[in-house]
Amino acid sequence: MIFEGKYYNGQSSKGMPAQITLLADGLRIDYCADEVTGSVHWELAGMHPSEFNDATTLLRYGKFPQQSISVVDKGFKEALLQQYRGAAFLKSGYNSVLSLGFSGIAIMALSLLGLLVAFLIWGVPALADRVAMHFPESYERALGEQLYTKMLQGYQVNDKKTAALNAYLSELNTDLDYPITAAVVTSDEVNAFAIPGGYVVVYEGILDKMEHHEELAALMGHELAHIRNRHSLRAMTRSLSYYMLASVLFGDVSGVAAVLVDNASTLRNLEYSRTLELEADREGLELLRRNELNEQGAILLMERLQSGSELEMLAFVSTHPNTGDRIKVLNELIAETKRPAKEKPELERYWEQLKGE
Ligand SMILES: [Zn+2]
Repeated sequence: MIFEGKYYNGQSSKGMPAQITLLADGLRIDYCADEVTGSVHWELAGMHPSEFNDATTLLRYGKFPQQSISVVDKGFKEALLQQYRGAAFLKSGYNSVLSLGFSGIAIMALSLLGLLVAFLIWGVPALADRVAMHFPESYERALGEQLYTKMLQGYQVNDKKTAALNAYLSELNTDLDYPITAAVVTSDEVNAFAIPGGYVVVYEGILDKMEHHEELAALMGHELAHIRNRHSLRAMTRSLSYYMLASVLFGDVSGVAAVLVDNASTLRNLEYSRTLELEADREGLELLRRNELNEQGAILLMERLQSGSELEMLAFVSTHPNTGDRIKVLNELIAETKRPAKEKPELERYWEQLKGE
């Protein structure tokens, strides 16, 4: 059988009219162009997997420079399949995809859709987490400052207590490379939260619950651990990852920071996993140790948070679950050291200022 097609010799991109003859051991291709005629013989073993596309069949042969032929004739494919049944070059991946038919293509489309959904559910938050982990520190701090400013707009700041809290913090060895800025805001809510880049907001409601400054130190240690380990930055970027993806997709890369700042209020109720909370508790306790403070402060803080009425504690407890478990873990850690605490008159003095009306 003889078919009309185009022959490409692999050296010129120009196709030459050719006649293709199906022989028992391969193809014979007689080509003719610009009064040049020639003939090549393709052995079956040298032929690459073929591509069938509707009416067109594309066959390639040999190593570099690779020759090829294309034949626009449905009968060519059928003739090949009949003559060379089982030959390797007829079992192309491309061919098998097409031969899947509609149901096969539907399955492939569904698999791709599944991959896309999986990426959106797990990939995007995980990607956001990686982005947050690799934020340069200067960027984290600049973002934190914007978030802090934005957050405070919604509150009344108690200037006197804010000054006392910052003085208290400056006396502590916090083990952070940059300064901490804190604000005390007027609210009965028992809450406190960390903002990326070294900012902490403490509600009067939680200060009113405390009786010893070591409890405050424990709270600060806990919140600063959330900052040091970028828990708040990561939780925020994760919870807003879809908005951020959208702003990246729409080409507004600078919009990523804007999305975070616009959603500053999510900081109030960020939820951390149990693992992250325990990590923050452990590091919070280390702050007490480093400053030779009574480690029982961490336990007292937890007990107060546990003992309050549910409504009162809602904000803090709902985002900080498993208080009973956490007390147990803290007690185990404290039992390991049993080191006597030192008096800290400076800290006491700022604490008195914080507690004063
Ligand atoms: Zn926490």
